[in-house]
Amino acid sequence: MDKSNKDLFTDYPLHNKALELAKDFKRIEIELVEIIQKIDASKIFRKLDFASLYEYVSQGLGLSESVSYSLINVSRKSMAVPELKLAIVQGSLSISQAKRITSVITNVNASTLIAKARVMTQKEIEKEVAKINPKAGVPERARYISETRVELRLSLKEEIIKNLRRIQDLECQRTKTTCDLEKTLEVIINDYIQKHDPVKKSEKVLHKLSLRTVNSNANTKADSGTNDDANENQQTQIQNTKMTENSPRINIKHEGSHPKINQRVAISSEINHQVNQRDQGQCCYKNSQGARCLNRRWLDVHHRKPIANGGDNSLANLITLCKAHHQLQHESES
Ligand SMILES: [Zn+2]
Ligand SMILES: [Zn+2]
Repeated sequence: MDKSNKDLFTDYPLHNKALELAKDFKRIEIELVEIIQKIDASKIFRKLDFASLYEYVSQGLGLSESVSYSLINVSRKSMAVPELKLAIVQGSLSISQAKRITSVITNVNASTLIAKARVMTQKEIEKEVAKINPKAGVPERARYISETRVELRLSLKEEIIKNLRRIQDLECQRTKTTCDLEKTLEVIINDYIQKHDPVKKSEKVLHKLSLRTVNSNANTKADSGTNDDANENQQTQIQNTKMTENSPRINIKHEGSHPKINQRVAISSEINHQVNQRDQGQCCYKNSQGARCLNRRWLDVHHRKPIANGGDNSLANLITLCKAHHQLQHESES
């Protein structure tokens, strides 16, 4: 069994090749981290039609979700912590070792953590990280375990789980059936969507408004408008106003980017609902290949033709854009 390295290389050319490739792989990973840092700093991914660095690395470079996350995490962290960058460039810490400590590493604890990350197993270093930041010890994860079911892993504050159990008790009591945690979460989530999702809300409001139109048409034809109908219409209007004012909704303020405009008429709630229905709460930017931006948060409503140039608040002149694409749009206009 005593074999020198030379014998191994001769006897196992496959092993030799694998060693060579592994070395290349590590070198390329380091080069990628360095180049991603430069791309991040210059923001050129925006000029290339990508809303974020993540979108660029995953879609533009075609790397997997998890590889993209670790490359970006390690790139950004090693900008802030030079010692981490040095360890990576010198090859004393691999990218996969580095990514385990990015959530907690600082310039103060860098030396100790890097030394530990080099020698400890994944489980051991996870424990070390959890000691510094209990939340980071269990990274949030949603993973498909069948075609229609997802396993969700996350750590929660004790108080949240106590309240969740409380809602579970209440729901069992209310429905007089056994209600597991999944059912409890479903009830809470549906309740939130009904109350606060601007897309759902716009669907309801626009449906009510269309009924109102049908009703009032019917009434005009029959010439028999009753007080009940009038009340109902009024209520719909009141609800309509209340809903749009109180809820977290797509930001329609559209300030800052238009310093020249002082007098701006607010977009009516009806038009705002129509925009939400049409755009479904998602950025409408399409890249040169025609693929639509996937962002469904940090959204603005943009005027295709600026108010200053005679644009108005009509549905056709309004479009939902994410912050990044909104900014890009204004940069390309100026
Ligand atoms: Zn705009
Ligand atoms: Zn976008």
